[in-house]
Amino acid sequence: MSAEMRNSYTTGPDEKGRFGNFGGRFVSETLMPLILDLEAEYDKARTDPDFWAEMDHLWKHYVGRPSPLYFASRVTEALGGARIYYKRDELNHTGAHKINNVLGQILLAKRMGKQRIIAETGAGQHGVATATVCAKFGLKCIVYMGAHDVERQKPNVFRMKMLGAEVRPVISGRGTLKDAMNDALRDWVTYVDETFYCIGTVAGPHPYPAMVRDFQAIIGKETRAQIQEAENRLPDSLVACIGGGSNAMGLFHPFLDDPSVRIIGVEAGGKGVNDRMEHCASLTGGRPGVLHGNRTYLLQDAAGQILEGHSISAGLDYPGIGPEHAWLHDAGRAEYVSVTDDEALEAFRFCCRTEGIIPALEPAHALAHVRKLAPTLPGDHILVMNMCGRGDKDIFTVADHLGWQMDRE
Ligand SMILES: *Cc1c(COP(=O)(O)O)cnc(C)c1O
Repeated sequence: MSAEMRNSYTTGPDEKGRFGNFGGRFVSETLMPLILDLEAEYDKARTDPDFWAEMDHLWKHYVGRPSPLYFASRVTEALGGARIYYKRDELNHTGAHKINNVLGQILLAKRMGKQRIIAETGAGQHGVATATVCAKFGLKCIVYMGAHDVERQKPNVFRMKMLGAEVRPVISGRGTLKDAMNDALRDWVTYVDETFYCIGTVAGPHPYPAMVRDFQAIIGKETRAQIQEAENRLPDSLVACIGGGSNAMGLFHPFLDDPSVRIIGVEAGGKGVNDRMEHCASLTGGRPGVLHGNRTYLLQDAAGQILEGHSISAGLDYPGIGPEHAWLHDAGRAEYVSVTDDEALEAFRFCCRTEGIIPALEPAHALAHVRKLAPTLPGDHILVMNMCGRGDKDIFTVADHLGWQMDRE
């Protein structure tokens, strides 16, 4: 590891893609040349001002950035402690942060002359963002989705089809996200020349975790400028929910070298972090292993079989976590906690009624932790929470849990 790395949390990974003991490149011989090619192209793009100028233009005019940093005055008052700000990434085109990253990868694909984009999706949010940007650039889009998820997430399957994408149900394994990832990797090897694999979170083999982080870091960069304008100083704490960890890494990364900033990631505790594995808290309830081309904390059984996990929020049920989070956890730079389905549901209702914002169930997890933390903090403590997605997609799930019927008043 380079000397640079010891003095800064922001310079990783090393040249092999490792964040300490995590990350790396665990892929077959056939995939290796593709990954090296991608790495070389990304290295060129990320130091090319023209690449970022095009990103900035699209972020502004297509996505709607910068997203506001909003002082949640009623939430602040109700909790009676820290001053709470929401970073409003739910206002982005397609309703979440995922498009920040997809735009970057698709621009890279175009530079590489790739005309065929593949993606894997679980709940369908990354599939929708990818289908959206492919439509905008006239690229062919194929989305691998577990057959079980296709059944569970019909509205997103329909959105992808409306946007011109082909959705391929994956029947191998248990027909969920893990199986879709395997099929996407297999597709990539088979149709190398014309294909670009667009990954939806800070996971996968190097350089994906660092590349996706760099694209999502726009969240933290904007926050840094906006909070200095609003409060004339840095925040005291940052809170974000974690599925694979991309919205959290995007918010956290520009602050990693500011020791005064406390950093907290919130995992999905499902029905409780216990050994029945009815949760998706890979860090708080998992063990290190290898999945999706990198080494990180995973939900697995004693024999090393990857487990499905459970969360009320479909976007949080990724069986692993980005390797940079695993490293920040072990290095003690960031804290990781979990909240349960019930706590997230309560936070969802609280946010709707107190602030007039219907949050996605994912950031409702972050808010559930903010509700526990804020009252213990002094009134001059500044806390920024990432409101990474809007809740329109979740109203049926919530109605179901509350026992409400949509067709009755
Ligand atoms: C996909 C998704 C997540 C989980 O992904 P991360 O990579 O952890 O950010 C969280 N929130 C929303 C709104 C999502 O769509």
